[in-house]
Amino acid sequence: QKRVADRMAMVTTSKIYEAIAKVADMQAQGIKVDSLTAGEPDFDTPAHVIDAAIKAMREGDTHYTAVRGTLAVREAVRQKFLRENGLSFSDDEVMVGNGSKQVISNALAVTLEPGDEVLLPVPYWAAYTGMVYAAGGVPAFVRPSGDRLTAQELRAAMGPRTRWFILNTPSNPSGLVYTKDELLALGEALRERPDVLILSDEIYEHLHYTPERPESLLKLCPDLAGRILVANGVSKAFAMTGWRLGFAAGPADIIEAMANLQAQTTLGPSSISQAATVAALNGPRESIDNMVTAYHRRRDLVMQIAKSHPGVKIPRPDGAFYAMLDLNEAFSGGTRFRKIAEPDMAFCEWLLATQHVAAVPGSVFGAPGWVRISFATDEKTIEQGLSRLLTAAVQS
Ligand code: PLP
Repeated sequence: QKRVADRMAMVTTSKIYEAIAKVADMQAQGIKVDSLTAGEPDFDTPAHVIDAAIKAMREGDTHYTAVRGTLAVREAVRQKFLRENGLSFSDDEVMVGNGSKQVISNALAVTLEPGDEVLLPVPYWAAYTGMVYAAGGVPAFVRPSGDRLTAQELRAAMGPRTRWFILNTPSNPSGLVYTKDELLALGEALRERPDVLILSDEIYEHLHYTPERPESLLKLCPDLAGRILVANGVSKAFAMTGWRLGFAAGPADIIEAMANLQAQTTLGPSSISQAATVAALNGPRESIDNMVTAYHRRRDLVMQIAKSHPGVKIPRPDGAFYAMLDLNEAFSGGTRFRKIAEPDMAFCEWLLATQHVAAVPGSVFGAPGWVRISFATDEKTIEQGLSRLLTAAVQS
């Protein structure tokens, strides 16, 4: 007897969590593993944010809140967009949810008709595909010929059923950041398709290693305001992944539908997390600066280690805390993985079992032959783990 709906066939647990669980098992058995899998900061939430949460709890801020979030958090979100992105939103154009993951998922759920397509540049954050399927849609993939998608490639990839285009910059998993000119060009292509909605996932905006900040597509193309939804949150910039607080800003009709869905499912996120988010968004920036300085140093370390393994290409990540390693050449030149369809999958399993190094196979992000590493970990782990990974790949 069939009990689970057909649409769930494509909604499976993430391979990333499987890898992380395997690492935890090995560590519990006393095996030392260098893990390059982390999808979250290895820093603690800033003290002033924690103090604000404790104060909120003590003062009785422990009840249901408005579905879209308290007035204070909505105001903090609006001010953040104004101050940091030069974007002005009215109160009915913003909301908070349980992580930006929930707000993105809700946005897809309230807009997709069965069979509608969501266009994702490869490599893409794996969770988008699950959310799209769960909402009854179908992911469609566009593979850039270079590192980043061009306007021409976007134009050619948008089909009659394309409902959304998702842009994630700085990107998970590649760490690539679109330049202002590249975004302006994508905006040109999107202008030609007024029926396509655009999700701009800006969760890594603060984590960049370029002198200039990543630009928001909406700031560069204000005429697209009626159809760009910006998703962001406190998880990555403030090391607050466990607080589950994300936010969205965009067209009021979509925000209203997202809030209606949230009202009938989870309601607003934890009142305590909302109070903490007000403190994070309105508070001092030193913690972000310190984390970015550390990530920047680690990014440089990754590139330096990569240099001594010329058989491996790593497009330099200018943002987020990930790098994608192109191991195709190493796999095809070796013996162990050359004839396998998704050599990265077999390689990562073998790497963990024999070298005690954990990384995420690129196939998870639509990029077979590649492997994602995270540098949200200490320099010693990066140095030892990445060196062993690259040596093993080249010798395999
Ligand atoms: N978007 C991207 C690209 C991510 O990598 C992540 C987390 O890994 C998120 C969104 C979701 O973050 P959260 O739900 O913690 O706000």
